[in-house]
Amino acid sequence: MSKMFFFGFPAHGHINPSLPLVRELVQRGEQVIYYASDEFKEKIERVGAQFRSYGEKSQQLHNELEGKHGNLILLSFYILKIGQAILPDAINDLETDKPDYIIYDSMALWGKFAAQMMKLPAVCSNTIFVMSEKRLLNPKVFFSFAQGLPYVFPFFLLSRRLAAMYQIPRLRLRQIFIGDADLTIVYTSRCFQPDSHQLDKRYRFIGPSIPGESNLLCKDMDFPAKGDIPLIYISLGTVFNNNTKFYNECIRAYKNMECRVIMSVGNAIDLSALKDIPKNFTVRRHVPQMEVLKRADLFITHGGMNSVSEALFLGVPMIVVPMAADQPIVAVRVKEVGAGIYLKKGKVKHKRLQSLSAHILSDQGYKRKSKAVGDSLRASGGPTYGADEIIAYKNRQLLKLGG
Ligand code: UDP
Repeated sequence: MSKMFFFGFPAHGHINPSLPLVRELVQRGEQVIYYASDEFKEKIERVGAQFRSYGEKSQQLHNELEGKHGNLILLSFYILKIGQAILPDAINDLETDKPDYIIYDSMALWGKFAAQMMKLPAVCSNTIFVMSEKRLLNPKVFFSFAQGLPYVFPFFLLSRRLAAMYQIPRLRLRQIFIGDADLTIVYTSRCFQPDSHQLDKRYRFIGPSIPGESNLLCKDMDFPAKGDIPLIYISLGTVFNNNTKFYNECIRAYKNMECRVIMSVGNAIDLSALKDIPKNFTVRRHVPQMEVLKRADLFITHGGMNSVSEALFLGVPMIVVPMAADQPIVAVRVKEVGAGIYLKKGKVKHKRLQSLSAHILSDQGYKRKSKAVGDSLRASGGPTYGADEIIAYKNRQLLKLGG
């Protein structure tokens, strides 16, 4: 049995996928101390790990980021600022608890710094795609970077300051997205990861963590019988979902189409701003997504990594309308594998939605390709494989260090 510190990035899309792996490690006897913000305490304890809070200072910085982390360079700068706030306490804890190794989320780079300082084996937990330089320079993706250019110099200065302060190598911007750990656990399949042929054995693809099934909230939902009229499911996820214009455009597109629509709109919008919700629509702030996807013929999504994995898992074709962050990269990939269509958010007009939906619904190829990628996700090995790899890596490293 070894002791491990897990430095999480406090966002549902980052913590949730890691939890089945943590549970597996705990079941194999590893003692896991998992750092996150307070809202994740219960979830983390439920998988058998010990929760530790990042504390108030980092929470404040996180709050400052709220709504802005679609800008990837600003996000990178904040990652360093949060790291600067967290590191002094983290180092104290490392000296007291003396863990054998560290796992850090690819966005929680203070974990990487801590491992470098303490010369500990470190594993990266990557809940998004590993991003190659080629992908980052894709015009659709690069745009989201261009907005962050004013933060490049502050990032450089802070990175240099941290390197001098803790005597660690200076972090370069590209490392935030590409990573360079000895072992990186990626929560998708090698088949769905873009440019995976460029990634060597240091990257292990364990597949997504698909949420358990639940019938909660389904009772009052009127699902059409399978094979009846098509069911279209619309959701922009849980973060970048404050977009009344988008939802109203969907209403215009599908109100006269022979279909049923379930639209999950999140907590941010004012429901009264939705114009004349038609009879064939069910609008909710939150739905049990897997249950809805199981019945859906088409998913209109923002391209969040979890939503897309869930749709692929169930072989549902998609129209991906990326809002921010890494979503354009995911959208490009969905298009490349043939599981759906990329639609720019500025081009979401009701007529376009109608024609694209009719096209996808009439062409079984999209569904077939979505299912094929879904099969690769299912075959990826999951938390068992991830835990095998982590424990083997840790044992090799501890042997080298004479532990
Ligand atoms: N989700 C859900 N019900 C909803 C909307 C979203 O259960 O009504 C879940 C969805 O299944 C997914 C997660 O919320 O697991 C959204 O994660 P994703 O990475 O797709 O997007 P984010 O919310 O991080 O932008």
